[in-house]
Amino acid sequence: MIDYKKYLMEYDGPSVRLMEVCGTHTAQISHCGIPSMLSPQIQLISGPGCPVCVTVTSYIDRLVELCMEPGTVVVTFGDMLRVTGSSQSLNDAKAAGGQVQMVYSPMDTLKLAAADKTKTFVFAAVGFETTTPIYAMLLNEAIQNDITNIKILTSLKTMPPVINWVCEKQGGIDGFLAPGHVSVITGSNIFNELSDRYQIPFAVAGFEGEQILTAIYALVKRQGKAGVMNLYPSAVTAQGNEMAQRAVEKYFMPCDAAWRGMGVIADSGMLLREEYRIFDAGSANLNADHGAHSGCRCAQVLTGALKPTECPLFGTGCTPQSPQGACMVSAEGSCYNYFVNKRKR
Ligand code: SF4
Repeated sequence: MIDYKKYLMEYDGPSVRLMEVCGTHTAQISHCGIPSMLSPQIQLISGPGCPVCVTVTSYIDRLVELCMEPGTVVVTFGDMLRVTGSSQSLNDAKAAGGQVQMVYSPMDTLKLAAADKTKTFVFAAVGFETTTPIYAMLLNEAIQNDITNIKILTSLKTMPPVINWVCEKQGGIDGFLAPGHVSVITGSNIFNELSDRYQIPFAVAGFEGEQILTAIYALVKRQGKAGVMNLYPSAVTAQGNEMAQRAVEKYFMPCDAAWRGMGVIADSGMLLREEYRIFDAGSANLNADHGAHSGCRCAQVLTGALKPTECPLFGTGCTPQSPQGACMVSAEGSCYNYFVNKRKR
């Protein structure tokens, strides 16, 4: 049996650059110290897989605006509270009298809305293919239970178009650690076309250290050849979760979407269908992206063009206690993970 850990540590072939496109993988790679288990010839690069990090400032600005409207409460996950828009974060707005409620699940919005019919509760619906089915479920429950004081502000993204952007506009990636959670919903087949087009291997991996190392080994061995390897078969199938896909299709349709640092990418987002727009809190055309600290390099970090440690503010002007960009705020952000795990490579 091949000792793949020894192989990865001693690898002295051509230099290989692998991108992980999932915030949870980024966090686990740092947490498990995986870079220190690899030969210097194998580089891991974090991609645009943290939903909070890729959200543009105009989206945050819209949330800030909404929470200041009388009778409107913005409901959100904790990470979103600290991301700054053009000038303010939701935390700033809350301190100035805005109505903001943090929750752990979008479904908590149902209870809040049912308990106070005098207010409209707007959920900050950010995420990838993984979370979109939950927003479909939220709307379904709201409709079934005749709860009409719920809306969502969407910043929903899809993975294949942004991976295509990275390959086409930036290049230099020899393999992708495909996002495991996304693949549970979409199925691993969703990466076939990209793999064929760019002749790059994809490995769908689980989230344990051993599973990630196995996937890295598979990618190094397969460099230069197309192919999608499903190394997470206990959770991922080729076709994905078709029930979740149908729920998403019922409520949402593809749209162009703006990504921090990448601009608008065609068909890379999801927007509520016309017949459900009554639940939308003004999500269309929130494309502007400005306002981060002038020295912040989140845009380059998100696309793998720069390592977090190469940002001049990393660890000095920017820390998790005093973040200057979204990548240092979110627990899935590259800068945050490099900082808390003291990752060098
Ligand atoms: S270290 Fe801070 S300022 Fe630099 S790119 Fe990361 S989030 Fe932005």
